[in-house]
Amino acid sequence: MRFNALRVFTEGLTGNRRWRSHWRKPDPKPEYDMLIIGGGGHGLATAYYLAKNHGITNIAVLEKGYLGGGSIGRNTTIVRANYFLPGNSEFYSHSLKLWEGLETDLNYNIMHSQRGLINLFHSDGQRDAAARRGNAMLAQGDDAILLDREEVREILPYLDYDQARFPVYGGLYHKRGGTARHDAVAWGYARGADQRGVDLIENCEVTGISVDAGRVTGVTTTRGQIRARKVGIVTAGRTSQVAAMAGLRLPIESHILQAFVTEGLKPCLDHVVTFGMGHFYISQSDKGGLVFGGDLDFYASYAARGNLPGVEQVTEAGMTLMPMIGRAKVLRSWGGIMDMTPDGSPIIDRTPIDGLYLDAGWCYGGFKAVPASGWCMAHLMATDQPHPVAGRFRLDRFATGELLDEEGTGSQHNLH
Ligand SMILES: Cc1cc2nc3c(=O)[nH]c(=O)nc-3n(C[C@H](O)[C@H](O)[C@H](O)COP(=O)(O)OP(=O)(O)OC[C@H]3O[C@@H](n4cnc5c(N)ncnc54)[C@H](O)[C@@H]3O)c2cc1C
Repeated sequence: MRFNALRVFTEGLTGNRRWRSHWRKPDPKPEYDMLIIGGGGHGLATAYYLAKNHGITNIAVLEKGYLGGGSIGRNTTIVRANYFLPGNSEFYSHSLKLWEGLETDLNYNIMHSQRGLINLFHSDGQRDAAARRGNAMLAQGDDAILLDREEVREILPYLDYDQARFPVYGGLYHKRGGTARHDAVAWGYARGADQRGVDLIENCEVTGISVDAGRVTGVTTTRGQIRARKVGIVTAGRTSQVAAMAGLRLPIESHILQAFVTEGLKPCLDHVVTFGMGHFYISQSDKGGLVFGGDLDFYASYAARGNLPGVEQVTEAGMTLMPMIGRAKVLRSWGGIMDMTPDGSPIIDRTPIDGLYLDAGWCYGGFKAVPASGWCMAHLMATDQPHPVAGRFRLDRFATGELLDEEGTGSQHNLH
C-alpha cells in the first residue's frame, strides 16, 4: 500500500474503508539470520536499513511492549545537527541529511518541519562558545548564523528582554533544525521494514541472551526461544539490564527525562528555542500545544514516570525565559528513560561477545540520531565494520580514555 494524494482523496470520498494495517503481526519463527532487541526508533531503523541497504530480510525485531511505546514516542521531537566535536559532528550531519529525504524514502508523513532552532546565549563567554560551535557546524557543511540581541528580538519577540534575570545576548540560529512527529517516525520505519519482509514481533520480551563459547546463539523470550547468529541490543533506557543478560556491564546509567505539553494555542512560537542559562527547550506542535522539557532527574532509575522536582525545574526555567508561558495550562506531562553514558556520546559497536552488537548511550539526544543510528548499526551488523561516520562511537573508549565529551552531559553531568 503506497500513500499518495490521490489515494487519500479517494479514500476520503469512499468512507476510508480500504486502508490496511501498516505492518503484519507475525508469530516468531524458531530461527532468524539476525535479531534486533527493541522496537524503538533505533531498532526499527536498524531493521529497515538492514533490509533496504544490505538486502538482509530474515530478521525479527523483538519488542516487549508495542512499537513506539518507549522514548521514541515520548520525546520533545527536536531534530538538529549542531554538534561540536569531530565524531559527533559528522554523525549528526549525516543524520540530518537522512531526515531531509526520509518522508520520500519511507513514503510516510513524519511531519518533518525544518522551522529553525535558536540556541540562546546570555553572556560573552556563551557567545564565544556559540561562535565556535557555529564555525564547527559550517566547517561540517551544515548551516549556522550568529544572531545578536536585536536580531533575536525580531524573530522571538515574546522572550523577556527587559527585566530578565539572564539578559539575552543573542542566539545561534540553525535553520535546518526543527521537529518531526516522533511516533510517526517509528511507524514509518516499522512499515518500511515490514514491507521488506522483516518480522516485527510485539509483546515479546527478551529475558535471556544465549552465549556458547563466546558467541551469541540466540535469545530467550516470553514467546519462546529464538536462534540467531547475530543479535543487536537496541533497547535505549533498558540497555544495561538487557546487556547484563549476556554478562556485560556497560558504562551506562538510566535516568528519567520529563516532557510537558500545554493546551492548544494559536500559533505563537514558530521555532525551536533553547535557553542558555538552564536546561529548557520549547517548540509548538502542529496541534498548537507548547511542547517543552528540561533536565534529567539525576537519581538513576528505570521508572518511566515524572516527578514534582522535574516539574519545578522545567517550569521555573520556562517562566524565566518567556513569562507568557505562565498563562498556558499544562495538559500532560510524562517521563522516558535515558541511557546516559559518562561522556554524553553514544556507542555503536561490537561487544566482546561474537555476534552481539550494541547501539546505545543516546542520552537526551537519540531522536535526531534515529536515521543515522539505524544506518550505521545496520552497516555494522551486516559487514562487521563500523560505518565511517560512527567510527568514534566505540565501547572501548571508556577503557582507553579516548572520550567524546561533547558537553559533559553524561550520567553525572551535574558533577562535571
Ligand atoms: C522526555 C524526553 C524528551 C526527549 N527529547 C528529545 C529531543 O527533543 N530530541 C532528541 O533527539 N532526543 C530526545 N529524547 C531522546 C530520545 O527520545 C531517545 O534517545 C531515543 O528515543 C532512544 O532510542 P529508541 O527510540 O530506540 O528508544 P525506545 O523507544 O525507548 O526503544 C527501546 C525499546 O526497547 C524495548 N525493550 C526494552 N527492553 C526490552 C526487552 N528486554 N525485550 C524486548 N524489548 C525491550 C522497549 O520497550 C522500547 O520500546 C528525549 C527523550 C525523552 C524521554
